[in-house]
Amino acid sequence: MKNNIVVQKYGGTSIGDVDKLKLIAKKIVDKKLEGFSPVVVVSAMGKTTDELVEMSEKVTFNQIEPDPREKDTLLSTGELVSATLLAMSIKSLGQEVISLSGPQAGIFTDHIHGSARISDINIERMINEINKNKILIIAGFQGINTEGDITTLGRGGSDTTAVALAAALNAKVCEIFTDVEGIYTTDPRIVSKARKINFINYEDMLEMAVLGAKMHPRSIELASVYNVPVYVAGTFSKSKGTLIIKGDNMENNKTVTGIAIDKNVSKITIKKIKNKPGTAGSILRPLSDQSISIDIIVQNIPMDGFIDFSFSVSNDDLQRAYDILMNQKNLDFEDIIKGSGFAKISLVGTGMQNAPGYATEMFTALGGVNIDIEMITTSEIRITCLINENHVNSAVNVLHSKFDLDKE
Ligand code: ASP
Ligand code: MG
Repeated sequence: MKNNIVVQKYGGTSIGDVDKLKLIAKKIVDKKLEGFSPVVVVSAMGKTTDELVEMSEKVTFNQIEPDPREKDTLLSTGELVSATLLAMSIKSLGQEVISLSGPQAGIFTDHIHGSARISDINIERMINEINKNKILIIAGFQGINTEGDITTLGRGGSDTTAVALAAALNAKVCEIFTDVEGIYTTDPRIVSKARKINFINYEDMLEMAVLGAKMHPRSIELASVYNVPVYVAGTFSKSKGTLIIKGDNMENNKTVTGIAIDKNVSKITIKKIKNKPGTAGSILRPLSDQSISIDIIVQNIPMDGFIDFSFSVSNDDLQRAYDILMNQKNLDFEDIIKGSGFAKISLVGTGMQNAPGYATEMFTALGGVNIDIEMITTSEIRITCLINENHVNSAVNVLHSKFDLDKE
């Protein structure tokens, strides 16, 4: 039999209430009647997961963190609700359908509760059901570890479930239906001339996803490794979405693909710390031991044997990072300064590789509208500046037109 499997994923807002869910049911049935075998991954309805998280935090005494195993089982129920309801709705339209939890679908993960990674997918059950001509509805964001306990993949993880299933089932495409119409050159709420991108390659998309575009970054990594084409489109929209595929820069030779914005940024500076081999490691070690990820790092030239060492962290981690460093007895410094209210603005584009001058153009354009750059970091395909959050709008607007993103 020819494989006509198409994986579709519907996010929480697409199935936010019963009426929307019924519309989705019809959409899926249409796909089936076109001759495809839909394998549908769903998120929890609306804000269900947030509500479950909140409840889990309220039931414990003395602000003790909820037990990770129990919490994962709890969170997994959100997706079971939407999967079963959607299956009932489809069934009532006269179609063969079955909902499966992550474990029933054969999704195995490692042991890290709350951010488990998929280790293996046993597709036997799914293939059996597809061969019985059934539409499959799979609860996203969950799996089972080798102990037989339910795990979850981390917030937003249904995207990753969908891409993993598309890879395992060798589906033609993985369609991600969401509340935006695709991937944009930048945030359309900030730049009115932001355009929907028709095609984007995995590398650029990964940078955009990590830096704020609405997809679980791990899903893009997976798609790239298994070469799964991913199509992102608006659930209730008729217009074309964005196709994420392998390839060179596909937007007619444009070297800059988009501008990513991350507003959730803080900065820490350690003043006058003794410069000796191992200093940077001993500053960062206690933070990474506590799973605090730091991003841009700037270390200035030693003066009289001392350096200033700055780095950026997310707002959520700022206070914790500060407290940890203040309590390091082995670090000898004058002071630690912390500040929030920063944003990272990144030019993204594989086309910038081997093309000199982009950084210069970016800094000049920001300088031209009087914006101070606090920190800079670059990769082969990205240039990131840390700036004051209040300057995001003017920065992104000036860069969007400077790098010709306004034009088709
Ligand atoms: N329901 C989960 C969450 O809210 C997973 C997802 O939406 O992808 O994070
Ligand atoms: Mg989501």
